[in-house]
Amino acid sequence: MFAAMRAEKMQALHLFTDPATGLEAIIAIHNTRLGPALGGSRYQPYNSLTDAVADAMRLARGMSYKAALAGLEQGGGKAVIIRKPHVDNRAALFEAFGRCIESLRGGYITAVDSGTSSEDMDCIAQETRHVTSTTEAGDPSPHTALGVLAGIRTAARHRLGQESLAGVRVMVQGLGNVGYALVELLTAEGADVMVADIDPGRVRLVVDETGAHPVALDAVYEAPCDIFAPCGLGGVLSAAHIDQLRCAAIAGAANNQLAEPGSADRLDGRGILYAPDYVINAGGLLHVALTHQGITANRIAERVSAIGNRLATIFEQSAAEGRPPSVIADRQAEVILYD
Ligand code: NAD
Repeated sequence: MFAAMRAEKMQALHLFTDPATGLEAIIAIHNTRLGPALGGSRYQPYNSLTDAVADAMRLARGMSYKAALAGLEQGGGKAVIIRKPHVDNRAALFEAFGRCIESLRGGYITAVDSGTSSEDMDCIAQETRHVTSTTEAGDPSPHTALGVLAGIRTAARHRLGQESLAGVRVMVQGLGNVGYALVELLTAEGADVMVADIDPGRVRLVVDETGAHPVALDAVYEAPCDIFAPCGLGGVLSAAHIDQLRCAAIAGAANNQLAEPGSADRLDGRGILYAPDYVINAGGLLHVALTHQGITANRIAERVSAIGNRLATIFEQSAAEGRPPSVIADRQAEVILYD
C-alpha cells in the first residue's frame, strides 16, 4: 500500500469505518500545494478494499491535475464509499461520512460523483460545511457544457481555421446532462449537429427540441464530421474506434476518453487533434469549487470560458514539439504541482 502511495505521490490516505451505519470509506488526498483537496465521493461496490483504495488514489491524482490546469487554488482528492448489497438508512450513512470529512478540518472538500446525488450531499452538509454540489449549489452540467463549447471553438480554430462554428459538423455521442446542454449551445451557434445515445428516448427528445440529426449507434465513429464530442462513457478511444474515426478533432466531456496507453499517439498518427478530457471538461469542477467560494454565476462563466485559451496553449505547444496534447497537458500540470 505504501509503495502504491509513493508511486502516486499521494499525500495522505484516510480509512474510515462506522459500524452503526455500515460505512466503510476511503479519502485519498493527492496534493494540497494549491489549496484544500477537492473531489467527488464515489459510491459503488468493490471486489476488495485494495481495489477501492487504488481507485481512490487514481481518481485523487486526476483531480489535482484537473484543478491545476483549471487555474483553481484547490488541491486534488477523492473519496470512495464502499457500497454494500443492503443499506438500512442511506441518509444516516452519508451523515456519518459527513462526520469523517469534518474530522479532516477542511483538508478535503467533497462533491457529487458516480453513485451519489445532491440529496446525499445535503445529508453530508448536516455534519460539515466542507461539501459542495448540494441541492442549493445547483447542477454543474451547464458549466461543463459551456467549457466544452469553448474547447470546440478552439479546436475548430486550430484545426480548421474556422473562427465561427456556423456550419461546423459536430458529432455528439451521449445526450445526458452535459450532451443535451452542449447540443443546445452548438445549434444556437449554427453548427451542423449529429447526435446519438443508447437511449432512443433521449435521441427523440434532443432531435425534436434542437433539430439535430440522429445517427445510428453503430455508425457514430465512422460518421464524417469535423469534431467528434464524446459525452457518454469514458474509454471510447480504443485502437479499433480511433481507426474508424473520420473527424479532424475530438473535443468532448467524457472522463478518461483515452482507452489504451497508445491511444494518444495513435490519434496523433492519424492527424486527429485531441482536446485532453480533464482540461476541456473542467467546467463542472469550476462550478462546484467557485460556487463553494461564493463566486457569482457570471464570474464562473468567464472562468469556464478561459478553458478555450488553456487548450490553445496546449495545442500550440503540442504542434511546436510534435508531442500529443495529452502529454503536454500532463507536463503543464506537473510544473504547477511540483516545480
Ligand atoms: P449522464 O449520465 O447524464 O449522460 C450520459 C449519457 O450518455 C446518457 O444519456 C447515456 O444513455 C449516454 N450513453 C452512455 N453510453 C453511451 C454510448 N456508448 N453511446 C451513446 N450514448 C451513451 O452523464 P453527464 O453528466 O452528461 O456526463 C457525461 C460525461 O461527462 C461522463 O463521462 C461524465 O463523467 C463526464 N463529465 C460530466 C460532468 C458534469 O458536470 N456532469 C463534468 C465532467 C465530466
